[in-house]
Amino acid sequence: MKSVGALAAVSLNREVPAMSFDQRSNGPATIETQIVRLKLRHTWTTVMSSSEYRDNLHLRYTRGGVTGLGEGAPIVRYGENAESARKAVDFAREFLLAANPWHFEKVMAEVFRRVQGEYAAKAAIDIALMDWISQRLAVPLYRYFGLDARDTPVTTLSIGIDTPEITRQKVREAEPFPVLKIKVGLQTDEATLEAVRSVTKKPLRVDANEGWKDKEEAVRKINWLERQGVEFVEQPMPASMLEETRWVRSKVHIPIIADEACLHPTDIPRLANSYDGVNIKLMKCGGILEAFRMIQIAKSLGLKTMLGCMIESAIGVTAAAHLSPLVDYADLDGNLLIAHDPYSGVQVQRGKLILPDRPGLGLKPARGG
Ligand code: MG
Repeated sequence: MKSVGALAAVSLNREVPAMSFDQRSNGPATIETQIVRLKLRHTWTTVMSSSEYRDNLHLRYTRGGVTGLGEGAPIVRYGENAESARKAVDFAREFLLAANPWHFEKVMAEVFRRVQGEYAAKAAIDIALMDWISQRLAVPLYRYFGLDARDTPVTTLSIGIDTPEITRQKVREAEPFPVLKIKVGLQTDEATLEAVRSVTKKPLRVDANEGWKDKEEAVRKINWLERQGVEFVEQPMPASMLEETRWVRSKVHIPIIADEACLHPTDIPRLANSYDGVNIKLMKCGGILEAFRMIQIAKSLGLKTMLGCMIESAIGVTAAAHLSPLVDYADLDGNLLIAHDPYSGVQVQRGKLILPDRPGLGLKPARGG
């Protein structure tokens, strides 16, 4: 009794702090946006497109002397580009400057309500807010989510579609990565896999980016890939072909992961019968909070979870990496595919993601970047 009474006395006598979190955040905010051209190390070719560079939107949210960094990598397939992302942020700017960042859950819900589409812009805002919040709380973002940094998975390094000669060269350059992700889905699939297998015996994951339009062809290709030491195949058929994918899944032995079919939390329940898992990307769903929700929904349905990315700097990739202790698979290599990353954040050691142990996302300007 004595100790309880003493404890109560301490609690009662303790004064309420002079300033709450809410009040301390009150100071003028600024939001700066910049379209940043990220040059690729190799021409990046998938079923969808071929490019030498990507234009992304970088966002700086500053308040009370702390700056949160965000990034949006617009996805062409969904009609987004860097300029449309910038306009979306401009549209939300006045609201964001007036909003209380400590209410980030409500703030992001309102951004989603006001802005149609433009998920890269939403991701840029969400990432900057979460970087700001976790810096102010003085914890690395993964700690905010209660995660153990030692649980990060291995990331694959992606090998885009290329000539057999360049494919072999890329696979040799990927020597430190224990698992590779190979892009297929064109007429060159056999030649690509043969080129990869001529230089490595590593486990492979394959991404067809909706490239196979015929279900019998998809089964033939996947059965062949099973014999090549492929662990799983991502989006073999077009996103809309849910029934066909379900049929394909019944004929193959390796997991089928949804990527283009899985954009938002509401997509996940109807995928559970056709796919074994989902590839979640901050740029498809609109940020860290939404991706966290998707991981929980997918797990509750017994689906495998994967975190992927677009071509992004360390801002976007590090943001996703902070959630990676939650997932089965990671393909968080977007920053490794670019030539001059302006930031450094998550690191990779023998494929394993190493999270920065600094407050927030833990980003630093890159040396010489
Ligand atoms: Mg994919």
